Amino acid sequence: MCGIVGYIGTQQAGHLLLEGLTRLEHRGYDSAGVAVLGASGSALKVAKQAGRVRDLTEGLPKRFSGRVGIGHTRWATHGPATDANAHPHTDAKRDVAVVHNGIIDNASTLRRLLADDGVDLVSDTDTEVLAHLIARSESDTLEGRVADALALIEGTYGVAVVHADFPDRIVVARNGSPLIIGVGDKEMHVASDLAALVRYTTTVAHLDDGEMATLTATGFTTYRQDLTATANRAQTIDIDPSAYDAGDEGGSFMHREIHEQPRSTERVLRGRLDERFGTAHLGGLNMDARETRAIRRVKILGCGSAYYVGQMGASLVEELARIPADAEAASEFRYRNPIIEPDTLYVAVSQSGETIDTLLAVQEIRRKGGRVIGLVNVVGSAIARECDGGIYLHAGPEVAVASTKALTNMFLGFALLALQLGRVRDLSIADGKRLIAGLNRLPEQIAELLEREDELAEAAARLAEADSLFFIGRVRGFPVAREGAQKFKEITYRHAEAYQTSELKHGPLALIDESVPTVALVPTDELTDRNVGAMHEIAARRGPLVVVTHEDVDLGELDAVRIDVPRNERELDPILLTIPLQLLAYHAALRLGLDIDKPRNLAKSVTVE
Ligand code: GLU
Repeated sequence: MCGIVGYIGTQQAGHLLLEGLTRLEHRGYDSAGVAVLGASGSALKVAKQAGRVRDLTEGLPKRFSGRVGIGHTRWATHGPATDANAHPHTDAKRDVAVVHNGIIDNASTLRRLLADDGVDLVSDTDTEVLAHLIARSESDTLEGRVADALALIEGTYGVAVVHADFPDRIVVARNGSPLIIGVGDKEMHVASDLAALVRYTTTVAHLDDGEMATLTATGFTTYRQDLTATANRAQTIDIDPSAYDAGDEGGSFMHREIHEQPRSTERVLRGRLDERFGTAHLGGLNMDARETRAIRRVKILGCGSAYYVGQMGASLVEELARIPADAEAASEFRYRNPIIEPDTLYVAVSQSGETIDTLLAVQEIRRKGGRVIGLVNVVGSAIARECDGGIYLHAGPEVAVASTKALTNMFLGFALLALQLGRVRDLSIADGKRLIAGLNRLPEQIAELLEREDELAEAAARLAEADSLFFIGRVRGFPVAREGAQKFKEITYRHAEAYQTSELKHGPLALIDESVPTVALVPTDELTDRNVGAMHEIAARRGPLVVVTHEDVDLGELDAVRIDVPRNERELDPILLTIPLQLLAYHAALRLGLDIDKPRNLAKSVTVE
């Protein structure tokens, strides 16, 4: 959450920082701000305001020059989205400017101490204390001052600091929130996300937790908070900068990312299917066949959509490998003092690889000696680095807050994992080959579904009119319903609740009437008849129905909008059932005229607890 950028070099920092912030705006869009330093002896200039980066750009004073600066887009944790609460925050004399991502847990104590000491606090934020604490340090160096201030702070942070007395440098520090340094030609960049760096450089260094760095125009040094050096080196990454460019002609990243799925699904499968032995090859798991066989349980951890796809993954593992598996919200996991078992394989799922709740769960498991692998999209991210092994998703950069292509690849990552786990156990070679054939058919079938967008847009228009909806499914279909409801509420702000179809009559059926539509998942499987029966029960109460189903399912005389998805192997059905739900949510939000890529109150990559 929140975007941080910094620049030091030979160009004017202001416009570069604003450009960087535009690329990070999906990480937080409550407010935006920049602070720039001119030549030695000149004052610090700060421009910040509630609202979007474009508003800040329009309002930026003409004389905002300087070749060193930092910027921020905020996702508020402490205090509302006001001009005063926007970052950067400064001390009273305006010598120091700070941008911060994260939460300072002891902020209220520090605020009280500072206020008792006569400091005038001008914002409601936790971050502001940092600026005052840095200003009060008596160290001779900026590095020392920042380290002194951080020593008083409890919490998580990515911070970037500039100081009028040290105009040749930016000091940054990381503890729990990502920071990446970008090495340019006589210039250095820093950002909380690669999206802000890739246009300028692909030579980057990821900071570790507890690490600090100083950037000057000609290079960077890294050190711990006791100022002893660390050996962090920049590496060149292979990334296509155009992947971060604006969305499709509709202007939305979500739409573009939905339509990328036929290609992105091919990428996650590429080189990982062994047709001869009917298995998957996941070298990154770092486990040999004997270790893989010794696994007795699989525990999947993720947040939001990653949690729901984790439930889909747990079914795949149980069905294909016959290993007990379940998924749990990573945000809850470590707070119940979980029992970590040596023969359990823990799987952490996160698009960004920076989701703080998932990262903390990984650290808890590792601390107790458990084995954990990551299903992560962003290469080199914190979770990827913390895990014992993993499966990269190769979805390409995902910018829209509502996850689509990354989620689909998470499902496929689980299918590959389940196949590999299954084939060292009792899954037959014939079944392995059957599934591989199914996986190979998926990209084409997804493309086929996406061609029917008009049909889905029409169904979405009707759903958009409702204030409240149900998404229902059973067994394999239930996590699909949960994900469908999540996506719908995230971007349309309609109340959408997921339920097991079987549980409807145990309570929620009381809410069904002509104003409450239900989106139902009715695949061809062992439960089709039961599901069709439930559809009739809803229709009998005049509940409007959108049924996502297979062509061979006989819905009888049911009055319903029917969406047929292509059939695949039944274990892989969930992902083909999910795709139409993405487009239903997208088109409902479009119809409601909402900002699809930046839904209110949310942000991409939740890096605060
Ligand atoms: N806790 C800080 C605030 O509320 C930073 C939030 C962020 O990460 O954007 O201003």
